[in-house]
Amino acid sequence: MSPTVDAVQLFDLTPEQYEIREVARRVAVENFQKRNLEWEESGEFPWANIRLLAETGLLGATIPEEYGGGGGSWLEGALILEQLGRSCYVTAMAALGEIGVQTQAIAAYGTDEQKRRYLPKVAAGELICSVSITEADAGSDIGAMRTTARDDGDEVVINGGKIFCSRADVAGLFVVYVRFSDEPGTHPIGAVLIERDTPGFTIGGAERTLGGEALYSLYFDDVRIPKGNVLVREDGFRRMLTAFNGQRCLNASISIGIAQGAQDAAVAYAKERHQGGKRLADHQGIQWMLADNEVEIQAARQLVWRAAAKASGGFPTRSEAAVAKVFSNEMALRVTDRVLQIFGGHGWLREFPAGRYLRWARYGPLGGGTPQIQRNGIARELLR
Ligand SMILES: Cc1cc2nc3c(=O)[nH]c(=O)nc-3n(C[C@H](O)[C@H](O)[C@H](O)COP(=O)(O)OP(=O)(O)OC[C@H]3O[C@@H](n4cnc5c(N)ncnc54)[C@H](O)[C@@H]3O)c2cc1C
Repeated sequence: MSPTVDAVQLFDLTPEQYEIREVARRVAVENFQKRNLEWEESGEFPWANIRLLAETGLLGATIPEEYGGGGGSWLEGALILEQLGRSCYVTAMAALGEIGVQTQAIAAYGTDEQKRRYLPKVAAGELICSVSITEADAGSDIGAMRTTARDDGDEVVINGGKIFCSRADVAGLFVVYVRFSDEPGTHPIGAVLIERDTPGFTIGGAERTLGGEALYSLYFDDVRIPKGNVLVREDGFRRMLTAFNGQRCLNASISIGIAQGAQDAAVAYAKERHQGGKRLADHQGIQWMLADNEVEIQAARQLVWRAAAKASGGFPTRSEAAVAKVFSNEMALRVTDRVLQIFGGHGWLREFPAGRYLRWARYGPLGGGTPQIQRNGIARELLR
């Protein structure tokens, strides 16, 4: 069987997965949607929303059951984040830390002690977890990172700095990618777990973003952590990259949720507003824009579900996650742009939702590995 045919796998959600999706939809619509602009403008971390997600079991849905979670897979995570992105970008981004790569890397690669210590608190909404990779001179090229980890007896000493860390204002735990040696031509990159109050670790001021969430710089000045807080050592670069394949599916799911939320708003608006003696919805030009949106949203969803559902060995494959992310991120830009057009001049007004969705959609192609970097990976795989 050719690889292309083999890759096509038909599947549907289980009744339990439909149920999780429905619970997430209801919680998000009833509690987060109405205040989504307020959350964005205040720049505050949505603690109330995170607590509610923890109470309903959605926050810990992908954490193993023995550590207080629901034991779900990347697919459950994708279903939940799509519904959060559909209603409230700020909440989706806040929950991404708990549902996403940080906690999944701890669950997959952590010691029993690390899992016992951190995961139950994450599932309960008591511990916010950040991941920090990006540096001033190492963005897409993460192999260029300079933050170092040096062994010193029973401890590891961290020096360096990071930028663009989400949720650093509220996080209690940071999964920090570090370089264990400077040997040329190698990627001795692993990850360490640094708790907020560790001496020598400081967090810079907030940088506000187009999406409302703030980003922070982190500074490590002879930060000493016990060896027990090393998550992955220098031989683990590939494993840490693999963990990111899951994050790509979740980032893509938020894009799909944003596109779906925009499409919902456009359908309602097109049925309501009249121009030329009929509803906008009765103009064929508008119908075709809505239909194009529907085609693209459904296609993206299938790509993400497939990549997430086929995750073997704990994480989706590089290629399937990359294909899903590129298509979903770029699809959301096209869909939200069409939606703003359907709203016409009203789409440009702040109190109308169209502009908000367009702004939110812009994040997807920036985080979790850009589409350019994903395309490099897809092409590398094809041409191997
Ligand atoms: C809202 C938000 C939240 C974020 N949260 C976090 C976080 O919590 N933790 C964290 O570590 N980081 C975070 N980031 C950082 C994010 O991961 C980086 O912005 C991203 O990896 C890109 O790096 P860069 O910004 O340095 O861009 P650069 O790497 O400088 O890239 C600039 C442009 O060049 C393109 N480019 C670069 N290299 C190549 C190449 N080889 N081939 C083709 N094109 C290329 C890129 O695609 C991009 O379009 C966040 C970013 C945003 C916007």
